[in-house]
Amino acid sequence: MRTVDQELRLGFLGGLVLLLACLMAARPFDARAQARPAPRDVVPAVAEGMKPPPASPERSAADLAFPVPAVSLAAMFDSFKDPRGLRAHHAVDILAPRRSDIVAVTDGTIARLLSSVAGGIGVYQFSADRKYCYYYAHLQSYALHLREGQQIKRGQILGYVGTTGNAPAHTPHLHFAITRLRKPNQWWGGEAIDPFPILKREVSSGH
Ligand SMILES: [Zn+2]
Repeated sequence: MRTVDQELRLGFLGGLVLLLACLMAARPFDARAQARPAPRDVVPAVAEGMKPPPASPERSAADLAFPVPAVSLAAMFDSFKDPRGLRAHHAVDILAPRRSDIVAVTDGTIARLLSSVAGGIGVYQFSADRKYCYYYAHLQSYALHLREGQQIKRGQILGYVGTTGNAPAHTPHLHFAITRLRKPNQWWGGEAIDPFPILKREVSSGH
């Protein structure tokens, strides 16, 4: 049998190992975060007609097509911070007629085709540099032959606007979210980014 002293020592060592593991896991992530330019650094360069850095990791979040071409910006609501249940909404909703085309906002890969209770029929798409994930939800249906792992181009049809999941039956809309990945190839659990200012800027500037 272990003495109380031994138990305490074991507990202390276990805690130390955990702390070290956390520190080691956190360090490379922080280093990357510091090395990365902030999104605002990229945008003025584009606005002034300068060539943006070719491999900027923020580029894929900033250069996006509007995901429902049939409707205008007025159909989009900045509801990123709206409380929905226990958490914030962390997405924009774009009202559109049922079966309107939903297109990829940028080049990339289909990460996951997933039907869920809340989101209904949904698409998770990685950006080409795999730094970001885009989520399109409440689809009526997927585009024909869409599959996981498929390479897609900006503007390619992913599916059609609907009300699947918890969308009100008479309010077809696209729920669109952007996350910055925390781990490679992990389409869930990323850091939420507000799509509203990004999409608004892109459409206003004629992209
Ligand atoms: Zn929504």
